Amino acid sequence: EDKELFGMESFKIMVDLSEGVFHDLKNILATISGLAQLSLIKDVDDDVKTNLINIVKATLSFKDALDRYYNFTQGYNEEEKKPYDIQSIILKTVDMVRFKLDILNSLGNEIQLNFLLNSYSRILCNEYELRQSLLNIIMNAIESMEDKSGTLSLKLYDLGNKVYIEIKDTGVGISPENMERLFKVEFTTKAKGTGLGLKIAKRSIEKNGGDIEVCSKLGEGTRFLISFPIYHENLMD
Ligand code: ADP
Ligand code: MG
Repeated sequence: EDKELFGMESFKIMVDLSEGVFHDLKNILATISGLAQLSLIKDVDDDVKTNLINIVKATLSFKDALDRYYNFTQGYNEEEKKPYDIQSIILKTVDMVRFKLDILNSLGNEIQLNFLLNSYSRILCNEYELRQSLLNIIMNAIESMEDKSGTLSLKLYDLGNKVYIEIKDTGVGISPENMERLFKVEFTTKAKGTGLGLKIAKRSIEKNGGDIEVCSKLGEGTRFLISFPIYHENLMD
């Protein structure tokens, strides 16, 4: 196992350190990206503009790499299932994609974010796994609107003894042929895609007692509906 390569103690120190370093690096990146975006608004030559756009994109890749590392260390901390407030997991996940939304919007897109979070229910889950699953589904939604403008809507509500998370985009949509392969094989339509995201998301959601459904219309958008049984303290303890 990877963990044994490092030795438990040094791994724990790394986990603690990474928390602070992660936030420092993120702030520095935001400054670099912000300055480049500010200069982009100015009337600059085309070659300067290209360089500035590449700087903004590089900070985004850097941020993605940081997130992967951060999630890895967080995953180590949270292996077990606990009752978690689903609304706060959604908000934390959204914080992680705001950076990407801001950059796309500063490069000329108009992607809006709509919230309707109507539940404070808790579910019994592994927070890391759920956050990773939601992150991928939300990132896919944003990526589906990368070359056009649109709206990302997030809804959270209780119905019966379940809590539902709806993630809806007005992106490119998924064709019926691709829909069949969505969760089955390592399927991707992206140049740099891995095709692993949805497969892992589905497995994690089901492992945590949840369900995932998707419907889509080519050219109109896609809706993912995820549900989990609501955790009732007195029933479980
Ligand atoms: P990746 O994002 O690396 O391509 P995923 O497993 O996350 O892998 O997604 C697989 C494919 O499913 C994507 O390449 C894309 O074609 C399609 N897809 C997933 N979510 C959406 C969405 N919200 N809108 C349009 N297509 C989507
Ligand atoms: Mg993906």
